[in-house]
Amino acid sequence: MKIAILRETAANEARVAATPETVQKYIGLGAKVSVEKGAGDGSKIPDADYKAAGATVSASASAAVKGADVVLTVRRPDAKALAGAKKGALVIGQMDPYGNEKDIKALAKAGFDAFAMEFMPRITRAQVMDVLSSQANLAGYQAVIEAATAFDRAFPMMMTAAGTVRPAKAFVMGAGVAGLQAIATAKRLGAVVSATDVRPAAKEQVESLGSKFVAVEDEEFKQAETAGGYAKEMSKEYQAKQAELVAAHIAKQDVVITTALIPGRPAPRLITKKMVESMAPGSVLVDLAVERGGNVEGAKANEIVDHKGVKIIGFENMAGRIATTASSLYAKNLASFLETLIDKEAKNLAVDPEDELVAATQLTRDGEVVHPAFAGEKG
Ligand code: NAD
Repeated sequence: MKIAILRETAANEARVAATPETVQKYIGLGAKVSVEKGAGDGSKIPDADYKAAGATVSASASAAVKGADVVLTVRRPDAKALAGAKKGALVIGQMDPYGNEKDIKALAKAGFDAFAMEFMPRITRAQVMDVLSSQANLAGYQAVIEAATAFDRAFPMMMTAAGTVRPAKAFVMGAGVAGLQAIATAKRLGAVVSATDVRPAAKEQVESLGSKFVAVEDEEFKQAETAGGYAKEMSKEYQAKQAELVAAHIAKQDVVITTALIPGRPAPRLITKKMVESMAPGSVLVDLAVERGGNVEGAKANEIVDHKGVKIIGFENMAGRIATTASSLYAKNLASFLETLIDKEAKNLAVDPEDELVAATQLTRDGEVVHPAFAGEKG
């Protein structure tokens, strides 16, 4: 069984799908591991460390994938980049399938079995494989670090001989995994933190971190969570009431971090230009939803926009900005999943399509797109 690790080719992607630690694990499971030269550069993992862990370092992507049974990636690879891997090889990574159905079909047609790690069910057994959580947690942390760097004032209250510095006021919109970490990080830096979410369950979580919950808590709000624990798209009426409350709150904030997402839908627009303009010059917004259309009007992907003295940070792939930590957690998520697809006695692959983790994540099999969300998309 050969496992290949590719050097990521997407712009701004510094992460890598395996670390020397996970390579060692795969070798312990009876696999041979081939890592493309330089795959770990962005995460400061030298080729020599992969070699020391027992991997072969291949000069090119095609040499790394040649004869591979499994290819591990961070982003969806191009089917062409996988040429030479075995027919039916497993390709496991973040496949970002919505809007990219053509590329998923191409993977099916080329005979690869693609698995989307972001579809891992959020059940206890799969927590160690939850890439959305491991990466969103880091994104929430890093969003606050970026905000603090762009902010020209201090976050904590400081009582000095030269005078007292008031603490920064930070507001976090969307209190999921990223938002809760943003709240915790902003609090650790000494800011006065408040937060909002449309899910009623978030209120208690926000308050348990010592921050204030800000939301219109009407009947619709009380019902606003799917059985899976995700946000529902709210009615126009609710959005208007909430926007009014939030608008008054935002005008008093120094830092706003937005993380609001709705699965399979564009990100909700939460902050209008007018709200941005209500903030004092020097304030900072970070839009973590920029990849999915953005929560903040005027946010631009991978830019810091200065709108009348207010900075809007729109970095995509925020977790990738702390690549070494992000790769370490991501690689462990992948290893925990791959381990379930290996027969430890026979030391070969044993994928059970009936297994709920496989059924939830497998996009393509036997030349066809098989995931129910993309049913009918033949390869
Ligand atoms: P997400 O990334 O899909 O969205 C981020 C947050 O934005 C969510 O909290 C959502 O409610 C919020 N949001 C959406 N629209 C909004 C709006 N208009 N205004 C304000 N906020 C808005 O969420 P996530 O971080 O992936 O978490 C989703 C759920 O999954 C949560 O209930 C979380 O606790 C749960 N979860 C469970 C597990 C597990 O059991 N293994 C792991 C991680 C997360």
